[in-house]
Amino acid sequence: MKRIVLLGPPGVGKGTQAERISDKYGIPHISTGDIFRANMKQGTPLGKLAKEYIEKGLLVPDDVTCGMVWDRLAEEDCKAGYLLDGFPRTVYQAEQLDAHLKAVGQDPQDITVLNIQAPTQTLIERATGRRICKDCGKSYHTVYTPPKTEGICDVCGGELRIRPDDALETVQNRLKVYEDQTSPLIEYYRTTDRLADIDGCQAIDGVFGQICALLGEKP
Ligand code: AMP
Repeated sequence: MKRIVLLGPPGVGKGTQAERISDKYGIPHISTGDIFRANMKQGTPLGKLAKEYIEKGLLVPDDVTCGMVWDRLAEEDCKAGYLLDGFPRTVYQAEQLDAHLKAVGQDPQDITVLNIQAPTQTLIERATGRRICKDCGKSYHTVYTPPKTEGICDVCGGELRIRPDDALETVQNRLKVYEDQTSPLIEYYRTTDRLADIDGCQAIDGVFGQICALLGEKP
């Protein structure tokens, strides 16, 4: 049983590692950012609300975010484990998660928290080079993982776009929000003995290797 929380600042490569962990261990990848973006694309009330915060680089209010996550964790595919990406983002959300897990009969200490780290300058370069396919959502990077043809998705031929929240000013703001609000979360998990530090400056395979060594080879 793998119940994992993935932590790391914007641009550290969390999404890429999350996909790999999810494939290898057969657990759903639950990204709060992805769920918000899907709702924004569909124009749902949740999406409209979230858009106001996301485009300013601010966090969506806790009650909205937590409610959405509890609903997702109650789904059938989460019974055998799950990978949370982008949640919790604050100590308050982490405390709420612990309380929620207890309430549904899961031990909060069973969670493994992977903390992927990298210096700020590296993060800015990574985030501002990110491109996302407007049709299938696959992500690329102009330097690290470019598509075969510039601006075009290898998988579906869709146009590659910069996410509005990857613009330089927004990225800097998101890093500051991360520093202010999420860094204390790292201490919260460290002091409760659930944190494992991962070196995010390695190549993608190196980061994944370190994660697998920690989680164990077998699902
Ligand atoms: P991400 O793709 O994880 O970087 O998330 C994109 C944006 O969605 C963030 O900058 C926040 O505005 C919002 N968001 C994602 N997860 C959370 C969360 N746990 N709490 C509040 N806002 C969130």
